[in-house]
Formats: sequence, structure tokens, C-alpha cells
Amino acid sequence: MQIPYGKQSISSSDIKAVEKVLKSDFLTQGNVVPSFEYSVSKYTKAKHCIAVNSATSALHIACKALGVGKNDIVWTSPNTYVASANAALYCGAKIDFIDIDSETYNLSTSALHTKLKDSAKKNKLPKVLIVVHLAGMSCDMKEIFKLSKRYGFKIIEDASHAIGANYFKNKVGSCKFSNICVFSFHPVKIITTGEGGMALTNDPGLAKKMMILRTHGVAKTNKSFDQSNNNEIWNYHQFDLGFNYRMTDIQAALGLSQLKRIDAFVKKRNVIARKYTKAFLSLPIQLPLIDPSHLSSFHLYVIRINTERAGISRNTAYKKLQSQGIQVNIHYNPVYLQPYYASLGFKRNYCPKSEKYAQECLSLPIYPDLSVDEQNFVIKKIKELFKN
Ligand SMILES: *Cc1c(COP(=O)(O)O)cnc(C)c1O
Repeated sequence: MQIPYGKQSISSSDIKAVEKVLKSDFLTQGNVVPSFEYSVSKYTKAKHCIAVNSATSALHIACKALGVGKNDIVWTSPNTYVASANAALYCGAKIDFIDIDSETYNLSTSALHTKLKDSAKKNKLPKVLIVVHLAGMSCDMKEIFKLSKRYGFKIIEDASHAIGANYFKNKVGSCKFSNICVFSFHPVKIITTGEGGMALTNDPGLAKKMMILRTHGVAKTNKSFDQSNNNEIWNYHQFDLGFNYRMTDIQAALGLSQLKRIDAFVKKRNVIARKYTKAFLSLPIQLPLIDPSHLSSFHLYVIRINTERAGISRNTAYKKLQSQGIQVNIHYNPVYLQPYYASLGFKRNYCPKSEKYAQECLSLPIYPDLSVDEQNFVIKKIKELFKN
């Protein structure tokens, strides 16, 4: 038996929806992408949604739309997938990292405040902060939003883990406390389009910029821009140096069909999370925070194993569970310890809390189709780790 840490859930109606597009006239640039965007907009209450081919692309055009360039600084959490930081580097900007909170594993609001005060003195404030809602649990957005007003930076939410989650009464993606929010539709995430992503915003100017950046910087218009020659026929004009980051209608059909089950998916993940938490309460490990004022999408269920407290190391637990077919995982080693980032000059001990977390964290299997038998098998094997 092999149990992954995350996996997509595909129904016969998903397959029918994709098949319908395959039999239609348009595989891309038809009406299913706009329809998916409209539905995500209705779901999250964000005014504008721009579907793209990955969250990585969405992060890139989000940074571009906010004007991130060569002389700018972008900050993010070290406890994330490399894409959150890479987006800033694509724009030629400098990246820096804020250490995490030891309870939520999201970037620490107090560490952020300290670094802002310090950077203001040195005239090195960031242009953009990319927050990451780790495991599907929102960052402290109200406080971060206040800091953004005080210190004059923009906010991108990397909500790759968090579609379907709530922050107080708002859906993550509402952009109530940010400029742009980004979702991922990779198969391990909450809903999938195979590969895919989306950028959301309430700002029509940013929406327009991102809309043209995803398609070569081109917009369809037959208006003449060059009065010197009226004999030409123009169907589109390029206004900016953009990319081909478009989502296909095939992908959007899958996304639209998956979106119908998003609340059921999140509910199922929460049921599994509560079952794990109940089963593990007496074990010598740190369990995920369950904050009743927010709904986490529980993209991940992360336990922390501290060797001294647990009597067993995380690495031993990792190897043992792997050998039993439970494909536990590490989310994440600090981005700045990746060889590429080390080559940019980042050193060990830069964010000590994040490094300690990385030595203790372990993501257990959690996804809607994880059967009760599989859940019980995981629980049994975890409990066995701490016997005697
Ligand atoms: C998955 C993920 C991404 C990248 O998403 P893609 O859609 O694969 O590009 C970015 N950030 C975080 C936090 C992720 O988990």
C-alpha cells in the first residue's frame, strides 16, 4: 500500500466536463476560461480573476503588475515553495525573508514589524510582501494590512494552499487585505486543473495589466495607433512585454467542475484533520493549530516532532513511515537554504525558527479520497512510533 501526502479527486462529472470541451470548437481561448473566472469571482467575492497556467505564472504577473523591477525589494516567508520567492527574482528584484511564528508556521507579524522598523531607518523598505498561507491557514492579514499602510508596501497573498479557506468571515481570495491573491490548481492542491493558477484582485488597473501580461502583452483592438499609415489592418496590439501564461479551456472545464465540490473537499479535509488531532492528543508531538475563528482548507496536516520531547527524531519517523508506504513529506525546508539561494549569499541561521521547524515538521496524508481504512492505518503507524 502506498499512501501519498496529497492527491486529486476526480469524478465522472469532471471527466464529462473535460470531454465536452474536447468535442467543442475551442480547446483554448473559448468561453470556459471566462466562465471559470466568473465562478471563482463569485465564490471569493474578488472583483477580477485572471486564470493562468500555474500559480508560479500568477505570482510573476502579480509582481510585474505591481511594478516590481530591478531596484526593488520583495519579502516573503522562508517556509514556502520556491515559486513564492522566484517570482521576485524573475523581475530582477532582490528577495529577503521574514522568520516564521512557531505556532502558526506562517511568517511572524512581530518579526515583520521589527524588520520594517529597521529597514525604514536604512531606507531599504520592500515594495511588495508576498505572504504565504501555509497549509491553508490564513496569515494575520488585518495586522499585516495595517503595516502595509504605515510602511507603504503592497501585498500579494500566495494562497496556493488556501482556496476554500476563510479569514474571519471572508473567503481567502476576497483581497480585502491585499492587492492581489494567487491560487494554485496543481493536483495536490485543494481543487485542480492539472496545471493551473489564478490571480485575483479588486483593482481594475491591476486586473487589466495582468490580463494582457498573461497573453504576450497583447490586447485585441483594431484601433489605429499609428496615424502615418492607414492602409494596414490591425487586429491586436502589443502594449507590454508579456508571456504566454494562458490557461486552456480543457483545464478551465476541469476547474469549473471541481469548484462545485470545493466546500465538500475542504469539509472532508477538516474531518480528517480533527480525527488525526483527536487520535494524537496524548502523543509527545506538536499538532496543527485549529483556530475556530478561521476555516483552514487543511491542504497539509503538519505535525512537529522534537527529538528531546518525542524520544525519536523526525528523520527516523520519516524513514520508518516511508518504508511502511506512508509517503510523508517535508513542507518546507527554508527556501534560502536551497543551493541557488545559497549562491545568492544567504547563510544558515538566517531564520532560526524556520530552520528549527524544518527539522521537526512532517506532513501526513490528507486529501478527500483518503479512505477511513487508510486514515486508521496512518493513525496506527504514527502511534506506534511513540510506543516505549
Ligand atoms: C504549489 C505552490 C506554488 C506553485 O504552484 P504551481 O501552480 O505549481 O505553479 C507556489 N506557492 C506555494 C506555496 C505552493 O504550494
